[in-house]
Amino acid sequence: MRLPGGVAKALSTVAGGAGRIARAGLDLLLPPVCLTCDQPVDKPGRFCAVCFGATSFITEPCCQSCGLPFEAVGQGGPGGLCAMCRADRPPWERARAALRYDEQARRLILPFKHADRVELAASLAPMMARAGAALLSRNS
Ligand SMILES: [Zn+2]
Ligand SMILES: [Zn+2]
Repeated sequence: MRLPGGVAKALSTVAGGAGRIARAGLDLLLPPVCLTCDQPVDKPGRFCAVCFGATSFITEPCCQSCGLPFEAVGQGGPGGLCAMCRADRPPWERARAALRYDEQARRLILPFKHADRVELAASLAPMMARAGAALLSRNS
């Protein structure tokens, strides 16, 4: 059904307002908590300060092939490759990961994979998009 622009805009404003009211009511009943602990946070899908600090985001500089951070595997050599990739190139060209897979990452990823916490996708997706931004922009 096509609605005139003004009607559609008015309806979406009403729906947005109702959504905000519902969200406020839900936040009163179930205040948003940190992604990986029970500390209250200001918005759903966020870490508390302690958990954010404990999360090992992988950032540049990293190996241009496997994506391991150089702080973990030593400085990159020719082509921006780590020593492991220079010695034995992986079968893929480039890979990136958002997080180091440590205890904190497991607290985030295992509930998503195995405990139906599918709402975590909304928080994980931007992390993956950030980690893969350079690869995605080169391929476009
Ligand atoms: Zn936390
Ligand atoms: Zn590498």
